[in-house]
Amino acid sequence: MLKIKNLQVSLNKKNILDKIDLSVKSGETHILMGQNGAGKSTLAQSIMGNPNYLVKGEINFNSHDLLILDPQQRAALGIFLSFQQILEIPGVKIYDYLKLLYKKSHEKKLTPIKFKEFLKERMEILNFNEDFIKRSLNHGFSGGEKKKMEILQMLILEPKLIILDEIDSGLDVDAIEVVAKAVNFLKKEKQSSVLLITHYSRILKFLEIDFVHLLSSGKIIKEGDASLVTDIENKGFASFLKK
Ligand code: ADP
Ligand code: MG
Repeated sequence: MLKIKNLQVSLNKKNILDKIDLSVKSGETHILMGQNGAGKSTLAQSIMGNPNYLVKGEINFNSHDLLILDPQQRAALGIFLSFQQILEIPGVKIYDYLKLLYKKSHEKKLTPIKFKEFLKERMEILNFNEDFIKRSLNHGFSGGEKKKMEILQMLILEPKLIILDEIDSGLDVDAIEVVAKAVNFLKKEKQSSVLLITHYSRILKFLEIDFVHLLSSGKIIKEGDASLVTDIENKGFASFLKK
């Protein structure tokens, strides 16, 4: 479903990613690891279409050439990227916002009662209580609540490809488990694929992993199955660097 070939990405004439090949099939979960500055966020942003980056090579998604599409069009194809900075929009009620999000992303219409059920099931996954949706979007939210709100939006959108960029940073282990629960829900219900960028193996306890890619200085230097995560953790990133 996602096919990246010979990807080269630069920013302000500085080469950041080089010769990246990566394929994610429907239902697969891929982990992208690597030290700070390796280019992980650059890869996520390039898939989503951040216009700041100069991208060469191929990115295909369900036989669409992503490179000719803007971020909204990519989102409409079912690609979701979590934000690292989350907006506060006072005055926009969460319920109204989520209802709009559902309408824009689904052809099938739901009656208000059915939508409430749909929403309730998803809020329960995240342990949000019912009063929550009466509040304004992200206004006065804690960092953890903002991240959970992102994940709730993901559960409403039901993306085919979920890209999470260090969603686990700054979350306690209970919140991490909740995020993983949401991801597993979409994997099961929608056969969603996952590209998860993380520094830590904590979230990986709760997810079934198919492939791990290790990025260093803009190149994929090692790939493997879930056991690579333990390897990286035991030996450290440095031991994988080419000498
Ligand atoms: P990661 O997410 O793996 O920590 P990034 O993709 O954020 O890495 O960054 C990759 C590289 O791009 C780093 O070397 C970083 O210094 C560089 N970089 C990030 N933002 C800019 C910028 N605005 N101008 C120039 N270089 C940048
Ligand atoms: Mg990053």
